[in-house]
Amino acid sequence: MNKVATTGASVWKHAKYLALRAVAKACVALHKLRGSRKSGLKSIRSSDAIYLPAGKAAEYSKVAAGFYVGCPNRCKYCYLKMGLTAGTLGGDCVKLKKCFKSEADAVEVYFNELFGGTGGTVRPEILRKGIFITFTTDPGLPETFPLFAAVIAETVKLGVPVQFLTKMTGWMESDIWKDLLSIPETKEYLAIGFTLTGRDDLEPGASTNRERITAVKKCHDLGFKTFASIEPVIDFERSYLSVLWCSNFVDLFRVGLESHRKYDKTEVLKFVDDLAALPEKPWIYLKDSIIDLIGRERLSFGDNFVDACFRP
Ligand code: SF4
Repeated sequence: MNKVATTGASVWKHAKYLALRAVAKACVALHKLRGSRKSGLKSIRSSDAIYLPAGKAAEYSKVAAGFYVGCPNRCKYCYLKMGLTAGTLGGDCVKLKKCFKSEADAVEVYFNELFGGTGGTVRPEILRKGIFITFTTDPGLPETFPLFAAVIAETVKLGVPVQFLTKMTGWMESDIWKDLLSIPETKEYLAIGFTLTGRDDLEPGASTNRERITAVKKCHDLGFKTFASIEPVIDFERSYLSVLWCSNFVDLFRVGLESHRKYDKTEVLKFVDDLAALPEKPWIYLKDSIIDLIGRERLSFGDNFVDACFRP
């Protein structure tokens, strides 16, 4: 398996981004040259770069992209480090997925899957549903951001909505980010999200929650659509405060419980009632983990509570 280097003075690797962006541009040009022939692929199947997430992940998006496994953020509750997949997905080092020969190869595979292999147009269901980045690592790491940014740059130009969820903020100081900002389509098609738990002690490798809140406000002020993942809820008060503090600059909150933890139903119901009472009435999606426990209709808490189709 290819191990990705994590050190070096130019930690954000602008040159790598530019090289991968050139590959991405060439892939798009090639697919467009092929014209508007039908792809022949009726629907997306789980494939190497683009796949259909299952379970809790599917509540975020019906389509996701992933190039790497492993994550140095070392969140104590990390779902990748639990269960049967822990050995393959749960390491602390970022590694390129085994199915790719190189990061350039990953870009090529991604655009083949985006276009459906043989056609000259993006698969309609991806255009409709958009793509989530990513579930198998943090896409805002120095190791992962150059490739994800290269792919995002060319994907939004095709009119495909992209959701980018991270716990990192350093990428917003990079030249790569400045380059993304210069692409007009990013503000239309890229939604930027941060996970907020209020528990820095459980996320030792990530940017602090305070830094993430500052970053999401900055994205909002720049004109991006924003979202926050209030998942997992570990401490009810801190999760509530995260929503309260960010209500004016986060376009959608997705709120969910921690797997494998037993919650008190009354406590969860009170937490949701508190969210419903927020005067700003932010858009909130309650994940199945909450709905299944409290046994109430998702939309019954107020007009600002939405279903899974709602996109920021
Ligand atoms: S940021 Fe996500 S992938 Fe990385 S350790 Fe934390 S939960 Fe796992």
